[in-house]
Amino acid sequence: MPWFSASKLRCFRDCHKKFFFQYIEGVSAKAHEYFEFGTLFHRAVAEMTDFNRALFPIEIQRMVDALRANPQFDRFEIKSFEYKVWPRVTRNGREYKFFGILDALAIDKIDGQKTILEFKSSEREWLYEDRNGEKHDEKLRDNIVQHSIYSMALPEYRFAYFIVTKHVKPRVQYITPDQFMGRDKILNVCDEIYNEMEFAPTAHRESHGSTCMMCDYKDNMCEAWF
Ligand code: SF4
Repeated sequence: MPWFSASKLRCFRDCHKKFFFQYIEGVSAKAHEYFEFGTLFHRAVAEMTDFNRALFPIEIQRMVDALRANPQFDRFEIKSFEYKVWPRVTRNGREYKFFGILDALAIDKIDGQKTILEFKSSEREWLYEDRNGEKHDEKLRDNIVQHSIYSMALPEYRFAYFIVTKHVKPRVQYITPDQFMGRDKILNVCDEIYNEMEFAPTAHRESHGSTCMMCDYKDNMCEAWF
């Protein structure tokens, strides 16, 4: 297992068998329309300083325009788009290597704080309430692994997620250190992967219906779905 990434760890968390198909056997998942839309949106954001509108669908043009017009976005001076990080961590003599691509590195023009900007696109907001009654986007809960890995590479940076939907004004959500997984928790998941022998299905159609329903391997490969 040469490199770990947020998507690998999330896939393993979802289902060990799915991880096996995708990362051990190398069977590619299908390209889904919603993934393609997200990829295109990220491409458009990365090119926003020299935005060739004609190359992007009208919905994405509107989303990028709304992001640029948002005063919360205007407070950042972007230093670099699609910045690659390769954090390496050693614990008990074992080396763990990670890889990730941040959406953007920026400086907050108001307080000078170095900030990682992540852009999340979706059809609409999916909010959940934390124990303090604060509302957060579901995507952030799903991305806790991602920002925890990035923080190992750039611990002095703050995180700001811009949630950009097709129908709601973009808004920013800051991530505080208590919302990170912590280095040891991440490395524990990596150890689980190192030590895994069976890669048996850990999602089940009855208890985790949506994980299986969204899984590309259910139709012709996964024994749990036959
Ligand atoms: S169909 Fe369900 S159990 Fe099988 S690999 Fe996919 S997520 Fe795992």
